[in-house]
Amino acid sequence: MMEERHMPFFLMTDLVNIFYATGFRGSAGVVLLSLEEAFLWVDPRYTLQAHEQAQEVQIIEARRGLLKAAAAEIRRKRAREVGYENSRLSCAQFEELQQETRSKVAFIKAAGLVEGFRAVKEAEEVERVRVSGRVTAQVFEELLSYVRPGASESDLAAEIEYRMRKKGAEGAAFETIVASGSRGALPHARASGKRLENGELVIFDLGAILAGYCADMTRTIYLGKPGRRIRNLFDAVAEAQKSTVAAMRPGIRTADVDATARRALRKHGLDRFFTHSTGHGVGLEIHEMPRLGRGDKTRLQVGNVVTAEPGIYLPGLGGIRIEDTVVVGPQNADILTPASKNDWVID
Ligand code: ZN
Ligand code: ZN
Repeated sequence: MMEERHMPFFLMTDLVNIFYATGFRGSAGVVLLSLEEAFLWVDPRYTLQAHEQAQEVQIIEARRGLLKAAAAEIRRKRAREVGYENSRLSCAQFEELQQETRSKVAFIKAAGLVEGFRAVKEAEEVERVRVSGRVTAQVFEELLSYVRPGASESDLAAEIEYRMRKKGAEGAAFETIVASGSRGALPHARASGKRLENGELVIFDLGAILAGYCADMTRTIYLGKPGRRIRNLFDAVAEAQKSTVAAMRPGIRTADVDATARRALRKHGLDRFFTHSTGHGVGLEIHEMPRLGRGDKTRLQVGNVVTAEPGIYLPGLGGIRIEDTVVVGPQNADILTPASKNDWVID
């Protein structure tokens, strides 16, 4: 890819990309790739860890600034063109880089280059998401026995995150969402001190992270006996989510997957309550490439790990969202977050 883009050098400053490329998982590091070599600069806190984790790179301890050290190497190599991650470098860092290389280098914007590779998972990566997805689903199913009127959203969120860690997760891949009643109409409500009440919809959006890989899953439940309206709303979202997953196959445009979800909700007059995109890539980060929204032109390929998460948000009433993380296979998509969707009524 570097050759294709006429970049004899590539400077990597995004820590997730550095982990992906080298295996090093510290909180500070800089990588420089040439067509023949790979260097990783770390500060003294991480020298030992880098030697344990990083593969196929020369590890160099930098005591006075990682970027400074990388810039010195760029100077030594008399590099003229260097690709860099313009989405993950501050203005101040870029200025430092320019100063340290004495402005003799043309820096080429290369945001998204590594992320493009990351979007297509290798079998081993899919297995890691599958493990995270399984833990996520187990935790949710165990949690259901705690879900009753009087339980607070934040207590349930804490229980979820505790159980994830007990099952070997590094933690929650993102802040767990528990949103009950009218709070469910906020698609990204944080868990609050509010207590669950009978006659409420409750959204749970959770995901464990294990071995660096995230899972993302949402289930909605109802406390009490749902009336016909709630049942119809729930069935519409469940049907939209199912048809979204069914539409996923290699070659389909992500915008068309998104349109499938919207079409299913439109049949019930609910599409105007679906206010976000249908899904996103999941992997080392909870939101990564590809996006599945309106106007997204990328096509799904085998090995993409993405979410399908249509939802509706009705002010005053609450929200219903159902989300799975799935992997795109040669024929169809396979669900990696296997918690039941049928046991949604808790009475
Ligand atoms: Zn989610
Ligand atoms: Zn999601």
